[in-house]
Amino acid sequence: MRAGTARRAGRPDDGEASECVGSELFRELARMVAALAEIQGLRSFALPYPGFAQSALDRTVMHCLDVGETPPRSLPELWEWCRTRPAGDPLFAVPASLVTPGTTLVHPVGRMPTRSCLEVASRGREGGVAAHARALLGDLEARCGTGERYRQCRRFLAHHPVVHQQDRFGLDWSKAVWSRVKDLYGPLPESLLVDGVFLRCPSCGLPALPRDGAVPVPGPTAADADIWCEGEECSRDTPPQLIREPDQTWILRRSLRMFLALPHRTEEAARDALDRAGIDHEALSGPLSAYRLRDTGPGTVDIHVYDRLQPALLAEHLTDSAPLADRTLVVVPDALAGRDGYREVFTKALPALLRDRLPLTTPMELVPDLGRARREEKDDA
Ligand SMILES: [Zn+2]
Repeated sequence: MRAGTARRAGRPDDGEASECVGSELFRELARMVAALAEIQGLRSFALPYPGFAQSALDRTVMHCLDVGETPPRSLPELWEWCRTRPAGDPLFAVPASLVTPGTTLVHPVGRMPTRSCLEVASRGREGGVAAHARALLGDLEARCGTGERYRQCRRFLAHHPVVHQQDRFGLDWSKAVWSRVKDLYGPLPESLLVDGVFLRCPSCGLPALPRDGAVPVPGPTAADADIWCEGEECSRDTPPQLIREPDQTWILRRSLRMFLALPHRTEEAARDALDRAGIDHEALSGPLSAYRLRDTGPGTVDIHVYDRLQPALLAEHLTDSAPLADRTLVVVPDALAGRDGYREVFTKALPALLRDRLPLTTPMELVPDLGRARREEKDDA
């Protein structure tokens, strides 16, 4: 407990050290929430707690004692803290330049890990949840052999975060693809069922849950605020789809739902924009969604597609993951890039040397931005 020692010794870096400890604790809790959510039905709330959860609880208790707060008494209470205490809470004091202050790790309506939680849990060298998605895709690519076979499987996963028995009789069903990807799916966890029914968001295709724990009745839609979906940002014209045979349904691993299926619509929009402009591109392996553009002149130009709510963490990830092309356009959904402060926080979080090499763009702006970059290069030459 370095902060505590510093405080007791009355050293001037008290505030800063405490802020670091709070941020570090927030990150450990994000990893704990992500890992607990993987445990079927969250049964691990019963004693004895899994080792990682016990150690996160112990660390929270120590930090509370250090800063003079009443500590949580149990894991359920700590989980509730993660639902109600945001990043900017004095207990964590995560800088606003790193994580949006109102961010909680557990969603207030869905009571599941938030997207931001999984992004925080993906920070650092080991890469957490996002690295898990990359590793799964890397294995799949190694098993698939040829490029086209892998691309078919990847496309299937992105389009089918949830697979129902009936899908297997559809026209676009491929037995060969399913046999290669089925081990990336599992049964629906109880925590995603409401009265034995599974809800799917009609917009992002990911799991949904109602606030009050009751199956929404068909007809006029429950208010959006009363339904959580894993995509979190969806506006829905129609109510969630109800799947009444959950035992005939399989769900893609969470890391792939979040870091492959969710950004997929943005990835397709970006590729469509390139195709319409006649710009050739080839997929790169390694990052989750990356392409190298062809015929771009003397320098290499890549595009990387992301759908991340936390711009500073995205900048941090890009800074840490080498190698980069001469220029890498970072494509995010239009709605995110248009959000107050998103671009500014992203750019500010990049090292000054990388700012020109990593411009943020959107599927709509991608082609005009490429044209502008080419003209600048010509002017420089
Ligand atoms: Zn959704």
